[in-house]
Amino acid sequence: MPPNPGPAAGLLGLVAHDSKKHDMVAWATEHRRVLAHFDIVATGTTGGRILEACPELRLTRLKSGPLGGDQQIGALIAEGRVRALVFLVDPLSAQPHDVDVKALMRVALVYDIPLALNISTAEMLIAALESEAG
Ligand code: PGA
Repeated sequence: MPPNPGPAAGLLGLVAHDSKKHDMVAWATEHRRVLAHFDIVATGTTGGRILEACPELRLTRLKSGPLGGDQQIGALIAEGRVRALVFLVDPLSAQPHDVDVKALMRVALVYDIPLALNISTAEMLIAALESEAG
């Protein structure tokens, strides 16, 4: 499969809190061939880490989460442009932008898009997207 096969199958949002960035990069690397079917938006640091590992991906880096990146992804969801969101949250640390974290989860629920908050769900989500993308 070429690294960037054909037109995108949709837009995916990827966000990981600091303690989960390693897991996000490992997940993206493992599934890079599936992810290559999609356009991706990610918060700044998460996106940078993924691109270091998988430079072939069609990934747009938005602002860092605490600086408005979560809200940018939320706005894209509200516009109906995001197919699914993988949002690896840290359940053990307080986030300075907790209101943004809640708002991003909330808008994903409002628009009923697939939302993976941990790796085990992200694995199920990517399997479903893989069978969809063919
Ligand atoms: P980051 O943002 O990818 O820029 O670290 C993620 C977040 O904490 O919301």
